[in-house]
Amino acid sequence: MIIFLETLGCSRNQVDSEIMLGKLVAKGHKLTADPQKAEAIIVNTCTFISTASDEAVDVLLQMAGFKKTGRCKRLIATGCLFERYKDDKSLVESFPEVDAFLGTAACEQIVDAVENKDVHPLTLFPDPNERSFQDLSEKRELTEKYSAFIKVSEGCNRKCTYCIIPKLRGLQRSRPIEDICTEARNLVSDGVKEIILTAENTTDYGRELPGDPGFDNVLESLSLTLEKTNAWIRFLYTHPNTLTESVVKAVKRSENICSYYDVPIQHAASGVLKRMGRPYNTQDLYTLFETIRNIDPDAALRTTLIVGFPGETKKDFNLLMDFIKTIRFEHLGVFTYSDSDDLKSHQFKDHVSSDIAEQRHDMLMAVQAKISESINNKHVGKTYSVIVEENVESGVYIGRTRFQAPEVDGVTFIYSNGLEIGTIVKVRMTDAFEYDLAGEKA
Ligand code: SF4
Repeated sequence: MIIFLETLGCSRNQVDSEIMLGKLVAKGHKLTADPQKAEAIIVNTCTFISTASDEAVDVLLQMAGFKKTGRCKRLIATGCLFERYKDDKSLVESFPEVDAFLGTAACEQIVDAVENKDVHPLTLFPDPNERSFQDLSEKRELTEKYSAFIKVSEGCNRKCTYCIIPKLRGLQRSRPIEDICTEARNLVSDGVKEIILTAENTTDYGRELPGDPGFDNVLESLSLTLEKTNAWIRFLYTHPNTLTESVVKAVKRSENICSYYDVPIQHAASGVLKRMGRPYNTQDLYTLFETIRNIDPDAALRTTLIVGFPGETKKDFNLLMDFIKTIRFEHLGVFTYSDSDDLKSHQFKDHVSSDIAEQRHDMLMAVQAKISESINNKHVGKTYSVIVEENVESGVYIGRTRFQAPEVDGVTFIYSNGLEIGTIVKVRMTDAFEYDLAGEKA
């Protein structure tokens, strides 16, 4: 069959999609980037916040249209949205066009879901805690040929009151370090230049394992594994409680690990953090970022915040604003609290109106835009390694430095000709903008 797959949501979903496509290609199925030409369409859904759930429904309905206007004979829904509502029969019934519903732990059964025309709808929802890690002998169909995410663990043992993920992905299970290194070695020998470690919390790695092998061990082993290559190692989704000095020192010791620290703190006011179920307070955060910058002065810091959480006061928000102005993150994302009746936080009193939440979102982003631009100005005149990602027009390419992560951060425009996508080149920065940089090939 000719297959089209649409991935929604996070990097963990992207890895799942690449695993599913790898299995289908291994069984002789072909891939297309055009849903109109597809005989089978897969939508890998997300449900982290309500807008993500809405988008998943919209995309599914749009894809269902190709059963009339295209060549689509089989429509398959996978991922978090249906895992979340697997016990709610009405949701499955409201999608008569969908031929198969697969939960987050059913990626292994994607070939059966595509080929099995006997059962309609086919519903496969194995326990997320039973999900095994991908078979390393199977190739993933990478979304980008030069940059690849690698999961270091599945699931999460934490209980943040606004989050549904542990229910969807199960409890934390950490991958053997040698499997992580083997997958990285295979990907780099296939031409990948950037390995990005991902998980619900990368730095929680190994906490459920005997002897608690820390994330610093993962970084050291991976850095050694790739030291003879020019591949970059990046890691995302750390947790403030487990982003320890030993992790930062492992980064500082290793030339091939990007000094890039993605630390989703969610807020900075102790009272709000307590209600969120985040086990750290304002002073812990000040100490954490000071420690990172003391050990690794080249550190690029990214964080993510939630505003409008139930009970957030003006005083809490002002404390958060002061915190952002003091720490001056290189990169920062802000979400407004997304309520849902299956979240613990839904029961909390003093919900904040969406208008106030939006105002607080906009105020934070306005302050961050100025901070980001002033930080970018410091890069002008300096030369950095940049991974070339796209040729946007004649003489202009887009790429990323080691302090710019994919999809969430600004990019670097490169004025040059004849660059090869997926290579790493030296760029001397000539211009800085709110979020982006620009420069010439050095
Ligand atoms: S750490 Fe909290 S926010 Fe992150 S996946 Fe776990 S429960 Fe959700």
